[in-house]
Amino acid sequence: MTLSQSHAQALDAADPLASYRDRFIITDPTLVYVDGNSLGRLTHTSQERVQAVLNEEWGDWLIRGWNRGWYEAPQRLGDKIGALIGAAEGQVIAGDSTSVNLFKLATAALRARPGRTKIVSDRLNFPSDLYILQGCVDLLGNQHTLHLIGNPDDVTVPLETILDAIDETTALVSLSHVTFKSGFMYDMAAITAHAHAKGALVLWDLSHAVGAVEVELDDCKADLAVGCTYKYLNGGPGAPAFLYVNKNLQEELRSPIWGWFGQDNPFAFDLHYSPAPGIARFQVGTPPTLSLLAIEPAVEMLNEVGMAAVRRKSVLLGDYLISLYDEFLAPLGFTLGSPRDATVRGSHVSFRHPEGYRINRALIDEMGVLPDFRAPDNLRLGLTPLYTTFGELWEMTQRIVQVMEKEIYLKYSDERTAVT
Ligand SMILES: *Cc1c(COP(=O)(O)O)cnc(C)c1O
Repeated sequence: MTLSQSHAQALDAADPLASYRDRFIITDPTLVYVDGNSLGRLTHTSQERVQAVLNEEWGDWLIRGWNRGWYEAPQRLGDKIGALIGAAEGQVIAGDSTSVNLFKLATAALRARPGRTKIVSDRLNFPSDLYILQGCVDLLGNQHTLHLIGNPDDVTVPLETILDAIDETTALVSLSHVTFKSGFMYDMAAITAHAHAKGALVLWDLSHAVGAVEVELDDCKADLAVGCTYKYLNGGPGAPAFLYVNKNLQEELRSPIWGWFGQDNPFAFDLHYSPAPGIARFQVGTPPTLSLLAIEPAVEMLNEVGMAAVRRKSVLLGDYLISLYDEFLAPLGFTLGSPRDATVRGSHVSFRHPEGYRINRALIDEMGVLPDFRAPDNLRLGLTPLYTTFGELWEMTQRIVQVMEKEIYLKYSDERTAVT
């Protein structure tokens, strides 16, 4: 079938997940929101839950709330997130930010591999992750070196390149499972197995993977992972993150931050720290309860749908968007900044253009399209299977074509806003 609006409508009509769009608050149906990989939309159930938490729980229960479900919320939510990423119960806990969780787990891992000095990551990784790793090296006395794997095309990394970099001196491999700019997805099982054969630990950042692709942490024998909840988990701006520590490592690893929520019995108020058994030892202080509780309904919804169905639609959306690119955008000077092969692609697609920044501004300010821009030239389009429609991708493409053909982007300054 040739690409057309009616073809897009037919794809939506055949979509088994189409009805989930109604679960989200959509105030402007003409807005094409393709930034759910940076800030997911709000669900009706989360909105209701937050109202109830404010009015009934905090408002009425007051401090009694801690014994009515607040205290267990980090582990309860952790287990529900665990169900999305192939982690059996007792290995995931919610709280702190992704950056802080990465710091805790990277430091714990490096200290568990004394004498090994190499940390392996790559140039596609999210800068905050690299800063955290640099900070760990500094904190631990500059005994480690951070080895960053280059990549020929800024889009993918050949598996052999990463495997070759992991050797007997490697303490830790720290990678984003799905990279933030190109959406390239690593082979978690192969890298983990290879790292283990060399005696190294692996720490995965699942920020662009959780709720977007199928992740099987336990099956891959993963060691450690962290991830974000405000992207594909729709947890809200700055919502607390999560961390995963495989059961087999929980007793061996020590968090570098010894707070009372990671203590064996916080309400014994013992003057000496002894770590809680299990995953709770990686907590620090009182969790941000309002934000935590806001995440839960959307995570439950994703569990209800199942990640296999979510992934199936994500791949269809990605392949469809790339076919629109081939037909309409490649002739206008865009290049594909993401893998064409869906088996190594997450749930966003980047198109590159030298005028990417100004094109992005024009789309946001006057075309009713909300993507984001990632320097130097990536227009990044997030595909969120529970609310992105094929019709929207068709419409968005036509609006991008207009921006180019009418040279609307030329009106805009190349001066960058604080958040792009
Ligand atoms: C979004 C994202 C983060 C965010 O970290 P915060 O601590 O929440 O600011 C970290 N790492 C990766 C790979 C991300 O995509």
